[in-house]
Amino acid sequence: MVDGMKYVFGPVSSKRLGQSLGVDLLPSKSCTWNCLYCQLGKTRNFVTERQEFFPREEILEEIRQSLKVSTNLDWITFVGSGETLLYKGIGWLIAETKKLTNVPVAVITNGSLLYLPEVREELLFADAVLPSLNAGSEELHNKIDQPASGLTFQQHVDGLVAFRSEYKGRLWIEVMLLGGINDSDEALHDLASTLKTIHPDMVHLVLPTRPAPEQQVQLPSDERLERAIAILSEVATVVHPLKGSMDLRSAPDLLEAITAIVSRHPVQQRELHKAVADCFPNDPVKADVVMQELFATARFKLVEYNGELYWVMREG
Ligand code: SF4
Repeated sequence: MVDGMKYVFGPVSSKRLGQSLGVDLLPSKSCTWNCLYCQLGKTRNFVTERQEFFPREEILEEIRQSLKVSTNLDWITFVGSGETLLYKGIGWLIAETKKLTNVPVAVITNGSLLYLPEVREELLFADAVLPSLNAGSEELHNKIDQPASGLTFQQHVDGLVAFRSEYKGRLWIEVMLLGGINDSDEALHDLASTLKTIHPDMVHLVLPTRPAPEQQVQLPSDERLERAIAILSEVATVVHPLKGSMDLRSAPDLLEAITAIVSRHPVQQRELHKAVADCFPNDPVKADVVMQELFATARFKLVEYNGELYWVMREG
């Protein structure tokens, strides 16, 4: 990562997308939904109006600079501190990015605006789009995703179906599985029926493994997770939930790289320690010293979630 970047972060490493350069297009938090599991906290004010929140040329310039120093990238991923497709002009950014590099472009979105033809059109040149579908009924959609008024479950599904019929790239639907909420047989069968109408290339099951400030969500049991995989596999290829692993070895400045990641989502302390240790393979105690130095900057604080410690940003 180049120091002083406002929009581009990483590369971050995950098992789903490999080495990925992230591009954050939104001021935090700008979203059409208020998901129970959101790592950014509650949505205080819904945003449903699409805008060019930041000048597109500025964002493209950061991508251009980052590509000069980031090698071995698997993906460039457009993602937001909220709902990515609220950024008006994402289609232009995708097209211009693809002129700069052969690295494929992915877009992570909740998919709530795909009912709009102009939004679907902006995504046609992305190599992969990862929208969310967490429920197969209006009732559960409203409970989990808590959309802004005027956005309905049927509209969401219709948007996904329309997008699938127009989009030739990879459509990977993300399903967040929440213990006690959408992991019952009934909820999973409803989800499967809805997925069947959409025809995604794959379904990525994801779990609430990171803390959601201000919200209470539970991991599903192993039995429910296996059941979800079995039921959803009847209608789509399901990718099992996997924890990402972070790679900081190419970061020129560890503090800035870690700040850029932690400011976007909480990071498990164990995972962070391992990523820091990987930077000093010949010095087994160095990671402990560096972790202490990083924590002493007072930028971060620790929170506990499901028995694990996470680094999050200290407010103010
Ligand atoms: S769509 Fe994403 S950013 Fe918006 S509330 Fe849900 S989890 Fe948070």
